[in-house]
Amino acid sequence: MTRILLLGGTGDALQIARQLGPVHVYSLAGLGKVPSDLACAVRVGGFGGAEGLARYLCDECIGLLVDATHPYAAQISANAFAASRAADVPCWALRRPAWQPQKGDDWRMVDTWTELIGAMEPFSRPLFTLGREALAHLDEIPAHQYWTVRCLDAHPGNAQASIIDARGPFTTEGERALFSASQIDVVISKNSGGSATDAKLEVARERGLPVIMLRRPDLPSVEREFTRPTDLVDVLRRLIP
Ligand code: NAP
Repeated sequence: MTRILLLGGTGDALQIARQLGPVHVYSLAGLGKVPSDLACAVRVGGFGGAEGLARYLCDECIGLLVDATHPYAAQISANAFAASRAADVPCWALRRPAWQPQKGDDWRMVDTWTELIGAMEPFSRPLFTLGREALAHLDEIPAHQYWTVRCLDAHPGNAQASIIDARGPFTTEGERALFSASQIDVVISKNSGGSATDAKLEVARERGLPVIMLRRPDLPSVEREFTRPTDLVDVLRRLIP
């Protein structure tokens, strides 16, 4: 039987992991919750770069590598590609489609933190939904700004920042309430795709607020790419009944 190593850390990956039996392995970086109710094995922590991952593929007799990591986790996807070549193990990937701007959207695309800070300059009440990156910059908040940062980390914030420790999915009503309570005037986002965190875009559109969007990193092209976890699971079921 083909033994699968599934690289995860997303809700989509967890959905796939739930379909895997005990011979397969679900791998997490170790930054978030580790599920304890899976039939497959779960391993936590880095492999030591592409070389370490290639070694793991050989040592553990992995027959298929599946990259279902987040679209902004570019390093592990690059490592997966390189390791699959080095170990001669096929690599498949779940590549969640990006959100597309709709009528009424005012998206301002940026590539770096410096560009992001520049684009935010005219605004005073940003909502950060990028993950933990903003936490490293709480001491650099300009005098005219108050940041609301939503991420998975508990953090006390400071006089110019509130941290909301919350995990999606988020509802449109919930986002409306947050935008009102925190007087949000700009949204800072990754283009994560999917439906768990897109309500903020709807509310920004309703209110005519701009969204400063961190552009997606380039990801390697692999043997098979899927856009929906259910399609990937269907193919895996045929491969490993
Ligand atoms: P990254 O920059 O691409 O990867 C950094 C390092 O973390 C990798 O080189 C690898 O270490 C280790 N790593 C990452 N994912 C791993 C996995 N599934 N299993 C084992 N090791 C892994 O990743 P990141 O952006 O920090 O994200 C870390 C994890 O959080 C990813 O698994 C991703 O799916 C999840 N996540 C990321 C985001 C985001 O916005 N970036 C959002 C939601 C979830 P070694 O080189 O030592 O192997």
